[in-house]
Amino acid sequence: MSSIFTRIINSEIPAYKVAEDEHYLAFLDINPIAKGHTLVIPKTEVDYIFDLDHDTLSGLMVFCKKVARAIEQVVPCDRIGVTVIGLEVPHAHVHLIPIDHIHDMDFSKPKLGFSPDEFEAIAASIRDRVNQAS
Ligand code: 5GP
Repeated sequence: MSSIFTRIINSEIPAYKVAEDEHYLAFLDINPIAKGHTLVIPKTEVDYIFDLDHDTLSGLMVFCKKVARAIEQVVPCDRIGVTVIGLEVPHAHVHLIPIDHIHDMDFSKPKLGFSPDEFEAIAASIRDRVNQAS
């Protein structure tokens, strides 16, 4: 059975995609802890990030950098926090989260709610910045 993220890659379920290439995909987290909270995944379905081969892992971080630069331009913040948890979805993913303070990385706080139009507007803005940089 494919992971939910593989199903997003294959467009079997929808997502607010912000960047994609042959090997990686970035899309908004559906239960964000900050505006612009984005997940970046390798298209290869591997559960644990440190089971990725060297090239896929290093490429993932370079792809994250491109997406983070775009998020920075859309969401005012001090920087983009980076974290890997992976306890919920068994498909390696990096969380990119606009932050100003350490508590902005607190996953136990209430999630933000956005309408579909708001999610799409955020994704489109980030996508535009990614495309401008390419
Ligand atoms: P983790 O595995 O890192 O503990 O958490 C998984 C993250 O994926 C959570 O932040 C959760 O909100 C997000 N997530 C889970 N299912 C979906 C989904 O179907 N679509 C999107 N966009 N995000 C999801």
